[in-house]
Amino acid sequence: MWHGQRYPRWRSAGWLLIAAVLLTVVVLVSAAWRPGSAAPEPGGPTDGGSRWSSLDGTGATVAVRVDEIVDTGHLMLVNRDHAVADEPVGPVVEAWPTVPVAGSVWLEESALEAVGELFAAAREEGVGALHVTSGYRDRTEQARIYAASDTAFAQPPGHSEHQTGLAVDILPVGVSQSQMAASREGRWLADNAWKHGLVLRYPDGKQDVTGIAYEPWHFRYVGQPHAWFCQDSGLSYEEYIRFLKDSGGYRTTVGGTTYSVLYQVPRDGIIFVPEGREYLVSGDNTGGYVVTVREP
Ligand SMILES: [Zn+2]
Repeated sequence: MWHGQRYPRWRSAGWLLIAAVLLTVVVLVSAAWRPGSAAPEPGGPTDGGSRWSSLDGTGATVAVRVDEIVDTGHLMLVNRDHAVADEPVGPVVEAWPTVPVAGSVWLEESALEAVGELFAAAREEGVGALHVTSGYRDRTEQARIYAASDTAFAQPPGHSEHQTGLAVDILPVGVSQSQMAASREGRWLADNAWKHGLVLRYPDGKQDVTGIAYEPWHFRYVGQPHAWFCQDSGLSYEEYIRFLKDSGGYRTTVGGTTYSVLYQVPRDGIIFVPEGREYLVSGDNTGGYVVTVREP
């Protein structure tokens, strides 16, 4: 939940306001992101950095104990080096009927909301039918899948993002995993998933960083502005967490909303959060915490 003003979710501000905000997001986003526009440059902003800036003047903060915060877990890094700390990170809910599924699929509720918005956008834009083929997996199921998989495409049990409830495999109906990258739907997802807070978690050419081969079907919910940043910079999620550690954070505006992102490693069990502004906190599963502030 967003702290500071007892602001549980974006949508609590009222549907009309949310609709207006979403419309603004869509308008701004479509103005900024045209299909076929130049791909983001790896490792940096596309326009020399003018769209994000340093954290000067981020306002007053207060100290809180990390054992007293609500940790959403949304930004947890899970890979071969970092095991799943909590499984799942939040309540998981059945994906059907919010989105079409193959089999029984459950997702963490924020992730499902994001996937629902993504699928609605796909329908509006006339993209072919999509379905979710995998979501939350418990350790037993991950062990079974790992045993039956090419290890280039699967993590051992305890190390799969699917165990958090935040990872989702999406395929166009009637299209196989090997056909997906070249399919119209696959390209649309790669260009548009970020707008709904989802990152393509195992990009092409990043296997040496992520440990997993290119998986055009596997998306991970992280929310904004993190999804935007990864898309714009071309960073894999591992590289994004590294960037946050090295930089301490950044400030940016996505779809008309300004965010400050602050990366902190607790000292004596304490981190600092903004005073009088809305924020979310997530541990990154490597010892740090990411505070995402929505600026008024
Ligand atoms: Zn997956």
